[in-house]
Amino acid sequence: MKKKNKEAEPGAVPGLFGDIVPAPVPAKSGPLAFSYSKMSLYEECPLKYKFKYIDKIKEEPKFYFAFGNSIHTALEFLYSVKAPPFPSLEELLEAFRQDWNLKSYLEKGYRTPQRAEDDYQKGLVMLRAYYEHNRAAFKPPFLVEYSTDVEVDGLLVRTISDRIEHLGGGEIVIIDYKTGKDVKRQPSQLYMYQKISELDPRLKEKIAETYGQRVGAVRVRQLLYYHVPTLKEYTFERADDKEIGGFWERVLGVADSIKSIKFDPTPGEQACAWCDYKKLCPHFFGGHPQPAQRPPAAAENIEVLVDRYGRLKEKMDELQAQLAEVAENIGRAAKDGGEYAGSSYSAKVKKNSKWEFRDREAVIAVLNQFDLYQKALSLTLTGITHVLESDALPEPARKKLLEQAVKKTGYDIKVTKKPGA
Ligand code: SF4
Repeated sequence: MKKKNKEAEPGAVPGLFGDIVPAPVPAKSGPLAFSYSKMSLYEECPLKYKFKYIDKIKEEPKFYFAFGNSIHTALEFLYSVKAPPFPSLEELLEAFRQDWNLKSYLEKGYRTPQRAEDDYQKGLVMLRAYYEHNRAAFKPPFLVEYSTDVEVDGLLVRTISDRIEHLGGGEIVIIDYKTGKDVKRQPSQLYMYQKISELDPRLKEKIAETYGQRVGAVRVRQLLYYHVPTLKEYTFERADDKEIGGFWERVLGVADSIKSIKFDPTPGEQACAWCDYKKLCPHFFGGHPQPAQRPPAAAENIEVLVDRYGRLKEKMDELQAQLAEVAENIGRAAKDGGEYAGSSYSAKVKKNSKWEFRDREAVIAVLNQFDLYQKALSLTLTGITHVLESDALPEPARKKLLEQAVKKTGYDIKVTKKPGA
């Protein structure tokens, strides 16, 4: 029997496994895990945030992240010294080489080995230039790749600073390496660093441990973006209380929306162009934008339309139930299928078996676990069935997918009206 349509739940959007009902934000008793990049993604598109952070569907690897990460790792290695001497240039390049070789070009997100090799060579040139340009000024930093989680206003905010220098008396400079084409001024990222660093109790302890100074407070004097490709420094002075206050209101607004499970898509040319979730997104059914929605009906007609909708829906449910029953009877009579004719219609009946997947979250978890998500993102429900039935599927993955699948026998019935009927 065909299942009756369930009432759509609030905020549900059509998806691969039927309606995607917003997954509740995990009901942890603790604060909401938050960061600047999470906020930026939510502001770009709440649904994209949901796919990434709530459903935990992996994005495809991006070569520019892989490149930036390897440069960061090499610079972390360079500055991870408590006292001179610093690593030699060869050792720095070796650190880069080792990190670069941890993944294949495809795992890094390159389309061809040549593109990856070009970037690898570019990285070597960049690091050589960095080393030569800065070697005279090398001095052990206060902190390198400093990651901290600070609890504030019901949020657990994570910041990761590439490097922090202590100027004395609790005053610090935060250095952030940039490896992209250009450095865009991003004051809001600076505000996040400033707010969190100044609230972070561990920073005071670290100053005491490293320099033997007990400071009453930590104060960010500057944030410095270091653009590695051009060896240029972009310095920003600390923000005033008004700027930080305005920024924090924005943070709390985004956090409230996440806690209230508001994940409606906000399509934009730029955001959608680079979005890996197009195939799951209701705005991009089948990879193409849906036609523009018709304007809502005039407010004065809404009561009439509601009644009409209700009546049509009742009729449709009734017809669908009848159709399912007749189809079931045809299937039973036709057994393995065939061609049959009534007085007005003829029908081709074909027996088939279909997989059905009950638990969308569980299927996504299996796809993620076995790195099949790239295929799944570009596939429909039928495609998932192909993944399941593919010879190339590893046995453990097949076993886990089968735990979520139910095989159903059904019939495809194609009817045509007889000429003149
Ligand atoms: S395709 Fe566009 S609207 Fe859909 S989730 Fe991605 S960014 Fe949002």
